[in-house]
Amino acid sequence: MTLRFQSRTALVTGGASGIGAATARLLAGEGARVTIVDLESSSGAEVAAGIGGHFHAADLSDMAAAEAMVHDLLAREGRLDILVNNAGIGSLGEVPDLDPAQWRKVMAVDLDAVYHACRVAVPAMRAAFRAEGRGGVIVNTASLSGLAADYGFAVYNVAKAAVINLSRVLAIDHGKDGIRVNALCPGLIDTPLAAPLAAIPGLMEKWTRAIPLGRAGRAEEMAEVIAFLASDAASYITGSVIVADGGAGAHTGQPN
Ligand code: NAD
Repeated sequence: MTLRFQSRTALVTGGASGIGAATARLLAGEGARVTIVDLESSSGAEVAAGIGGHFHAADLSDMAAAEAMVHDLLAREGRLDILVNNAGIGSLGEVPDLDPAQWRKVMAVDLDAVYHACRVAVPAMRAAFRAEGRGGVIVNTASLSGLAADYGFAVYNVAKAAVINLSRVLAIDHGKDGIRVNALCPGLIDTPLAAPLAAIPGLMEKWTRAIPLGRAGRAEEMAEVIAFLASDAASYITGSVIVADGGAGAHTGQPN
């Protein structure tokens, strides 16, 4: 049986936890040589060891560190086929509550990091396409919160909306270079990122009631969508925004 990602090289940011870890495991299980990049060294190294992959520690909000991540992978593997820009942080607060440092930090991690990685990954994928006819695939983890707005999550919503249009921009500019780029918009997913929401009285109950499937999603369910987008089965899908939210975004928000 041919594995979907046999002889492909993948880089998964935020791969130490949640959606990124599940994606790294799924891609590796289907034949990819996976590099995990994360701030969290011990859990990142553990996930990488579990899948026979490589771990690279980096703070991707730092442009030089993000560029080094891609250069390091290219030096080691010689190619980059799949880039999953998934690292991210959450942030609570309405605009007047946000100090400039918090605003900048969330924009730097949730948005700038995608730009940083693509600055180096796109030219490498383009060069591979010109030389050998094989381009690359980029999947950016945005959010349902980038398509509409949540009460009280101002900067996170703004950053994720920008990730969606950054994905479209990359897709239209680099289709000619054999590079497909799509954005995944998860709804509420049960990962450490969402855990602090449980401390806000009544919030999880209210949000879960608004999900037609009646539950938060699992990281593994997001990994399946990312793997599909990264696979040849999605060969004609680029510039798309794929929502995986248990139906939460399908209604007007009026209480049921
Ligand atoms: P998570 O907290 O389990 O994983 C995020 C990972 O990103 C962590 O391992 C963290 O260490 C890493 N990270 C954070 N800042 C970093 C930095 N500066 N450099 C490198 N790595 C960094 O959360 P998750 O839910 O798996 O989140 C993955 C992505 O999914 C994020 O982009 C998040 O915004 C998005 N998302 C999550 C949800 C949800 O409900 N969990 C919903 C929509 C979108």
